[in-house]
Amino acid sequence: MLRIRLICPIIIPVVVIGGLIYPILGYLLLLDMLLLIGISPSKGRWFCGNLCSRGIFNDLVLSKISRKIKIPKLFYNSGFRIALLIIMMGFMVFRIIGSEGVFVKLGGIFVGIYIMQTLIISVIAIFVSPRAWCQICPAGTLQRLFDLKKNTIVVDKEKCIDCGLCSKVCPMHLKVNEIKYKPDCIKCGRCIDVCPKNALKYSRQ
Ligand code: SF4
Ligand code: SF4
Ligand code: SF4
Repeated sequence: MLRIRLICPIIIPVVVIGGLIYPILGYLLLLDMLLLIGISPSKGRWFCGNLCSRGIFNDLVLSKISRKIKIPKLFYNSGFRIALLIIMMGFMVFRIIGSEGVFVKLGGIFVGIYIMQTLIISVIAIFVSPRAWCQICPAGTLQRLFDLKKNTIVVDKEKCIDCGLCSKVCPMHLKVNEIKYKPDCIKCGRCIDVCPKNALKYSRQ
């Protein structure tokens, strides 16, 4: 899995640079969307923690220069997240309708959207926190909506000594050992790795 994570960020230059020459590469964005929606019923936001090119690039690279401050409270507001999802989907549909439906032209629109999003994601990662965007990302919100809650992190309260290490390393700034249902957990596994008491595990129903 680690190797796949290391390869994922390659998608960024492929779409950002390659897409300007071959707009058809923009369809990788659609593939991304289909994949993450397909995975989310059984695994929740697993895609975000293990396959997303931008998310993993932020973890591996931008985290080194990120200010790593608290994710703003507004980012946790469901209404704000849904509004952003609707605006971004609406923008995409608007661009698609205006493109006269030419296949390659559509690819170019996806490339444009990808570049714009990547810029926004990177700026937020540097000035706030590497995964701050992931709290409001429309793709993340979509995965939440499709999540059947079959794959969540559970805490063995008997073993937990409340040391707080799990919450400290959580890229989504979740209070890992305190809250039961964690719809924004991206299944990165960092909390499990760091727990000194083996008190955390995935519950797969
Ligand atoms: S929330 Fe969006 S940007 Fe973040 S990892 Fe998921 S798909 Fe990628
Ligand atoms: S650190 Fe744990 S709770 Fe936080 S996102 Fe990763 S797997 Fe989920
Ligand atoms: S790292 Fe483990 S022991 Fe520490 S608070 Fe989290 S679950 Fe509890």
